[in-house]
Amino acid sequence: MPRPDSRPHLLILGGTGEAAALAAAAVERFGEALRVTTSLAGRTTRPAQVAGERRVGGFGGADGLAGYIAEHGVDLVIDATHPFAAQISAQAAAACAAAAVPRLVLERAAWVREPGDRWIEVDDLGAAAAALPALGRRCFLTTGARGLGAFAALGHMHFIVRLVDPPGTKLPLASYEVVLGRGPFGLAAERAMLERYAIDVLVAKASGGGATAAKLLAARELGLPVVMLRRPLAPPGARAGSVAAALDWLAARLAATGPARETEEIG
Ligand code: NAP
Repeated sequence: MPRPDSRPHLLILGGTGEAAALAAAAVERFGEALRVTTSLAGRTTRPAQVAGERRVGGFGGADGLAGYIAEHGVDLVIDATHPFAAQISAQAAAACAAAAVPRLVLERAAWVREPGDRWIEVDDLGAAAAALPALGRRCFLTTGARGLGAFAALGHMHFIVRLVDPPGTKLPLASYEVVLGRGPFGLAAERAMLERYAIDVLVAKASGGGATAAKLLAARELGLPVVMLRRPLAPPGARAGSVAAALDWLAARLAATGPARETEEIG
């Protein structure tokens, strides 16, 4: 029987570029001294490669995640999920509290409104749909595949829907076309996108970070309004604003827990 892996075990909750960068940086910095596993929900058909180990699929709620933590000897959790992945973040907070495992949130920097931006901030897709008729007829929708039914009643509008994967079924929109794309997106390409499709208005999540910010710059240049979904509230707890800061947190935790683990193993 293989000997159980006795190294400290970091679980990264992923699905973002930051999570992949963190996994690569953790493997690079700690090498064989740390076991790194990245968890993906399995939403995309071609998930990005990650350094270290990878697991795919839901855990089965907070209890399922707590069970995974116990079963796989997870010592530390870094929640590097998307700012709008509120459910898994809440479940991670609950599971880590229950399992007494330290948890850090790798938080993506929020976008800041600049002069020339025409943002209309709303709390959900229903409010975004309510705002649209006053703003134009051709809408660039970049909020993902879920919840598009909120726009179903807007029969006079045409939607350009950007998705990572082709949708398996017809979208619940009266008039639309799908554009496939996976970030990061550059400014020239986003400007061309808005012009080619004669976009009047964008709908975006306030995701923050660099990978999808160019569409906002392009909208500002063209004077287009952006209906911006506010971020959901994140659960409280330790936060890092960069991969480097997350690595420092990790190093401090490993230094604090390392000797105890060695003692356990010797004893
Ligand atoms: P969510 O609503 O917060 O989570 C829904 C369920 O998906 C969770 O309850 C969990 O299932 C499972 N799940 C989510 N993230 C997981 C992960 N990293 N590993 C294992 N299971 C996970 O999440 P979402 O908004 O659907 O996002 C899903 C994934 O896509 C996340 O990893 C996120 O980082 C990434 N992503 C999301 C967005 C976005 O706009 N929401 C954008 C880009 C990338 P169980 O309850 O069964 O454990």
